[in-house]
Amino acid sequence: MSITIKVDAHTHTCCSAHAFGTIWENMRVAAEKRLELVCMTNHTPPMPDSPHIWHFTTMLELPDYVEGVRLLKGCESNVLNRRGEISPDIEHLENAQVVVASIHQPCYNDRALADHTETWLGVIENPYVNILGHSGDPRCPYDIETVVRAARDKGKCIEINNHSYSVRSKSAENCRRIAEKCKELSCGIVVSSDAHTPWDVGNISSALEMLEDIDFPEELIMNTTAEKFIDFLRRSGKKI
Ligand SMILES: [Zn+2]
Ligand SMILES: [Zn+2]
Repeated sequence: MSITIKVDAHTHTCCSAHAFGTIWENMRVAAEKRLELVCMTNHTPPMPDSPHIWHFTTMLELPDYVEGVRLLKGCESNVLNRRGEISPDIEHLENAQVVVASIHQPCYNDRALADHTETWLGVIENPYVNILGHSGDPRCPYDIETVVRAARDKGKCIEINNHSYSVRSKSAENCRRIAEKCKELSCGIVVSSDAHTPWDVGNISSALEMLEDIDFPEELIMNTTAEKFIDFLRRSGKKI
């Protein structure tokens, strides 16, 4: 089986201070790799490297296409606590065309919990969230079956994050278990680069290798084409 992914649903520009590419540089690489759509999902406050909150208002002034590739302006939200509350505030979440919600250690007040199932169940209830970001991080284990089932029922996607294979290398085993459970329970996923440099835009090779290895069904991957991904977002009420 060979899966083709035309959408990168999670990328950073140098507006997140620990990333390096301008929008133009990222989109040029996306065009070279023949992607159809890229989501710009910079960190939000209070993440230490996030841009000012105004970024998430003015980003709407960016064009819909750069270098011929569709650009969606979103954010990578921070999960704040065990209730699944996230930043930024509703006003800025409403602006975002796509919302990835991730646990980042500097922003997560309940990181000492032994089990983070409750946290993810709270996040899933948030109507603005589309994608549960890099949840395979072994520092925050959760009951995979319970969370995948809830995500499926609420129309959320679980992200298989390629960047985890390099910076959170102990995530690999969890990513596989999560993907296997998504396959078993028919929960949608997205496969993302989480690129922090232009050269990594569209780089999903490690995640894809795992998905092909477990014979993951292509119909459950929501970002194979721009059309499918936009349909997925529209079903959750995004006006795109
Ligand atoms: Zn992240
Ligand atoms: Zn990220």
